[in-house]
Amino acid sequence: MYLKTLTIKGFKSFASATTLRLEPGITCVVGPNGSGKSNVVDALSWVMGEQGAKSLRGGKMEDVIFAGTAGRPPLGRAEVALTIDNSDGALPIDYTEVTISRTLFRNGGSEYAINGDSCRLLDIQELLSDSGIGREMHVIVGQGQLDAVLSADAEARRGFIEEAAGVLKHRKRKEKALRK
Ligand code: ATP
Ligand code: MG
Repeated sequence: MYLKTLTIKGFKSFASATTLRLEPGITCVVGPNGSGKSNVVDALSWVMGEQGAKSLRGGKMEDVIFAGTAGRPPLGRAEVALTIDNSDGALPIDYTEVTISRTLFRNGGSEYAINGDSCRLLDIQELLSDSGIGREMHVIVGQGQLDAVLSADAEARRGFIEEAAGVLKHRKRKEKALRK
């Protein structure tokens, strides 16, 4: 399984539709400060189901929609589509290629789809949940986070590892259950 293409339209600084074609292995995104490198990563988290505006470096979810520039008016919707190569069957769905997409309208409405069929956010989260990618699995290390990991004390470092291993949600669930 690998990420094949990411199409971003009306999301953050990407006003026009932009498609990134990825290959198996490591991809590097380079560019000047403020050119949209982190926005690419935000688009990736977002299409995989991220619900926290803060994790997307915004105040509210609507902030992901292209807000306009001096020469270009704001847009009414943000759309991101991610195509995943599933020829190894890592995703529990009977397709060798899976495209998940997410659209947010300025009025607050959302649309989600898997291979063009509209679905719920939960369906996307569940599809990705055991794959090692997606919202619950923090494979995305943000700018400055690497520093935080390296300088963390033992307790905080354990938290990072638990989150990466996907056990944090179970521990939180257990703590919540014990409080009742
Ligand atoms: P650095 O190297 O400093 O980390 P970067 O390439 O990661 O930079 P990003 O953070 O991806 O840069 O992009 C920042 C740019 O995206 C800013 O110019 C900001 O104005 C623009 N931007 C963010 N949200 C929106 C939005 N909703 N509409 C339009 N532009 C936006
Ligand atoms: Mg950045």
